[in-house]
Amino acid sequence: MVRPVRIGVLALQGDVEEHLDALRRCSVDAVRVRRPEELVQVDGLIIPGGESTTVGKLMQRFGLDLAIMKAAAEGKPIFGTCTGMIVLSREIIGSRQPRLGLIDLSVLRNAFGRQVDSFEANLDIAAIGGPPVRAIFIRAPWIEMAGPGVDVMASVDGKGVMAQQGSVMVSSFHPELTEDCRVHQYFVNLVQTFVNQQV
Ligand code: GLN
Repeated sequence: MVRPVRIGVLALQGDVEEHLDALRRCSVDAVRVRRPEELVQVDGLIIPGGESTTVGKLMQRFGLDLAIMKAAAEGKPIFGTCTGMIVLSREIIGSRQPRLGLIDLSVLRNAFGRQVDSFEANLDIAAIGGPPVRAIFIRAPWIEMAGPGVDVMASVDGKGVMAQQGSVMVSSFHPELTEDCRVHQYFVNLVQTFVNQQV
């Protein structure tokens, strides 16, 4: 029998509630994760948008950095949006801030520039299919370089804004801020595949 999945949202800072709502719209059991023990009880984790220096420091303070690395090593899928993408990346250009280094990306923070602090774009995402995804960017990073094992799934002006390496996926936009469930559903499918392999 297929066991339903439970997905955690890292609840240190940022737009936690919006991700919980988006997961619930996908009919998934979604819970906040603030402590390492809570991570053990979920099948996958979303790291939301916020401020990446703050989130990185709080992860260290609560021992969540090591717990998330352990969960990733066990194959639990992890999805980082915006700040989540930054803290999951191997390299953050010009910064020594704490990070998890779980995806072979070099990213640039606040990359789209001050004049365009926030903007929206239609993205063709082949892995998701169907009509373009309306994506909201807020002081978003972009991908400067991706390692050979990384699949860059969407771009804006030639700059990668969504990527996946194995069970780790990232987007520099905020799928939790639109009604369209497809990006979350793609992640839920990764988590469901992981859970099905456990039995
Ligand atoms: N600019 C923020 C940072 O560097 C990210 C913004 C966001 O998550 N919306 O952490």
